[in-house]
Amino acid sequence: YEMPKLPYANNGLEPVISQATIDYHYGKHLQTYVNNLNALVPGTEFEGKSVEEIVATAPDGGIFNNAGQVLNHTLYFLQFTPQPNKHEPSGKLAEAIKRDFGSFDNFKKEMNNASTTLFGSGWTWLSVDKDGKLHITKEANGSNPWRHGLKPLLGFDVWEHAYYLDYQNRRADHVNKLWEIIDWDAVEKRM
Ligand code: MN
Repeated sequence: YEMPKLPYANNGLEPVISQATIDYHYGKHLQTYVNNLNALVPGTEFEGKSVEEIVATAPDGGIFNNAGQVLNHTLYFLQFTPQPNKHEPSGKLAEAIKRDFGSFDNFKKEMNNASTTLFGSGWTWLSVDKDGKLHITKEANGSNPWRHGLKPLLGFDVWEHAYYLDYQNRRADHVNKLWEIIDWDAVEKRM
């Protein structure tokens, strides 16, 4: 299991996400999840399995938690760009959002609301099911939509380590700003 390579500099997402947050969140937190997973998996039935397979099938515990967080953060860090070429999705994803949430603005409102009302540590995800229908789900701790047979497209990390250096307790302010750095081309490719 490897670290994803960031397609931007550690200070590239400022002022939405500071270099200090990337240094710790990517450089320390994610690196620890990767190291833990590489230490836990050898010699188990999960050897050679992808993080998606582990998240879908592993019992609750250390292997599940660390595989979930490697998968979550890989999707998370690769969904941002310093200079988005558009501020909302186009094509198939735009059509599905309109169909399932009424409008892009309403989708944003629902995603923000799920993120601010999630109690404790976890993630909010936009994901797609086998029939192409979109869902917003809250995942506790290190879980991921693959746990429920859904394919994740866009995820907001609402663990305090994702925003506390920059926004302290103001989770809603942090989530609101994330929309400015979404790489919609990368998100659309996950559909
Ligand atoms: Mn995190």
